[in-house]
Amino acid sequence: MHVNGKRWISRVLSAGIGVAVPTALALAPLGCPTRTPEPSAQFANRQRIDRPIDASTLDATQRDVTVSVPDAAAVAQRRWSTTEFARASLPVLDVHTHVDVMATRTVLSLFDQRGIHTAINLSAGWAGAGLEEALEQQRASGGRIRPFCTLPWRATTDARFVPESVRILERCRALGVRGLKIPKVLGLGARDLDGSRLRVDAARLDPIFAAVERLGMVVLIHSGDPKAFFDAPTPMNERWEELQAHPSWSFYGPEFPSFAEMMSEFERRVLRHRRVVFIGAHFGNDAEEPERVARLLEQAPRYHIDTSARVPEFGRHPSAQMRAFFERWQDRIVFGTDLGLGEDMGEWMLGSQGSERTTQSDVDRYFTATWRYYEGTDPEWQNPTPIQGRWNIHPIALPRAILAKVYGGNAARLLGIPWPPAQ
Ligand SMILES: [Zn+2]
Repeated sequence: MHVNGKRWISRVLSAGIGVAVPTALALAPLGCPTRTPEPSAQFANRQRIDRPIDASTLDATQRDVTVSVPDAAAVAQRRWSTTEFARASLPVLDVHTHVDVMATRTVLSLFDQRGIHTAINLSAGWAGAGLEEALEQQRASGGRIRPFCTLPWRATTDARFVPESVRILERCRALGVRGLKIPKVLGLGARDLDGSRLRVDAARLDPIFAAVERLGMVVLIHSGDPKAFFDAPTPMNERWEELQAHPSWSFYGPEFPSFAEMMSEFERRVLRHRRVVFIGAHFGNDAEEPERVARLLEQAPRYHIDTSARVPEFGRHPSAQMRAFFERWQDRIVFGTDLGLGEDMGEWMLGSQGSERTTQSDVDRYFTATWRYYEGTDPEWQNPTPIQGRWNIHPIALPRAILAKVYGGNAARLLGIPWPPAQ
């Protein structure tokens, strides 16, 4: 359905980037370049459909959440209005968004329509490189859009990178910022002093995490990507369609680590800093393997995970398995979307997106699929973004008390935000 990147998102993802910092540090596009779910090969309930989806064969319920059906706009309006779900009366704190600092009014209007009270903007740069504008947006939005800061990951070959990053963090914290976003460029692109791949668990970076701990900040970290992106891009790859549309999303080849290597580095990093609150982005960076995610949650008591852009991934597992996971880890899961939002709806990023302009029916379908996964009781329905894998999603019908924690309570506690917010 979707093809290549959008102009706006590259602007937002590089917000605060390319601006001179006190040293000669150069900066790189950060954020979540591929805001896409992912699959892999190990799950019993992989329900691949090795043929194109024919909308006429789907019942009306499935059509509501299926892309590329001719009457998508009409059906999106017709059923599964989000107000049917408990969410309508539960405020949402979205820990994972990418927001254009110039689009405050438009973004708040969307949030008002969809029940999102507060959102964390992960594309806010740092002091002198976009953060002031993001903090102005925080003020203008009455605290509803709050930035995390990031670091100049394009400058990692510079010996000053680590001490400069510590100074950046101190300045961010002094300005009131509660969190640091670490994008997947660490591990997949950033270079060490000798030009080799900078590993997520490189000892050289330890002072950055010591500073985070000292400053009482939260680290939201994205490491790796969908497992299939690390496998050979062939017709046997379960994301073959998506990789054909976005060849640059492949991390297959000698220049990249394996998925297993990335995950191990990430886990070692989390386990090394037991007093730091980490949030593993995108379902702990391993939506295909909830058992592995649970192991790290077990081992690291301050470790949390966000749900962003992975409903089609963890949603492929059986309802009973995932409901049990959410029950067990109900205090350690925080809601995220990975929405990329600017003034122009046509350029919004909703999960996986490309050159096609985003429409109102795309937005409706995205939110309906999201709430319907957590709250729906229907047995299963087709992945709302089939380009990412042709399998079914199994809703988990969480009880209201767990929804309240996952949708906002947990994140509010981590970030010191009064919750529920005064309406
Ligand atoms: Zn993201």
